[in-house]
Amino acid sequence: EFGELSLKDIDNVAKSSFPLCMRHLFDKLREDHHLKHWGRMQLGLFLKGVGLKLDDALAFWKAEFSQKVGAERFDKEYAYSIRHNYGKEGKRVDYTPYSCQKIISLTPSVGDHHGCPYRHFSEENLRAALCKMGVNSGGVEDVMDKVRHKHYQLACTLTFEAIHGCPNDAGINHPNQYFSDSQKILK
Ligand code: SF4
Repeated sequence: EFGELSLKDIDNVAKSSFPLCMRHLFDKLREDHHLKHWGRMQLGLFLKGVGLKLDDALAFWKAEFSQKVGAERFDKEYAYSIRHNYGKEGKRVDYTPYSCQKIISLTPSVGDHHGCPYRHFSEENLRAALCKMGVNSGGVEDVMDKVRHKHYQLACTLTFEAIHGCPNDAGINHPNQYFSDSQKILK
């Protein structure tokens, strides 16, 4: 677990320190005010892992979802699963954020935004996403080369290195590790 994340900082740290998988879910949530089940799970557990407290998590999801489905329906249909992720409902299991291996093995369908972009995006969409992340054109080619060889986590590690301008010798194996490695450099 990494410190605490307050709601007012969330947009800034999403830009600077979220790996592409989480950045994509975060941007889609802000854009569509909605995410399907697995997207909510993947992003929600990640946010818990980076230190977003339950009350802030409820406020964060509600601010978006209520623009789409209304506050009442959010409270009725969606708040439960967020509390559930934090171990406050049902079996009261404290669920852990997904690893890269798990995310890469998921099978998103059309309209889903979960999964690993290096594995699940088209080449065109991945190139555009990398540019938006601030990877230069040489860096994009290096990343695409790893992707072609199905080395998705190495592709993510190269992205990290391109954005932060320094090596990540351990390599990326968990989105929450990407986040904490990034914050260590930026702080
Ligand atoms: Fe996310 Fe891991 Fe894929 Fe990077 S390699 S985008 S951290 S799932």
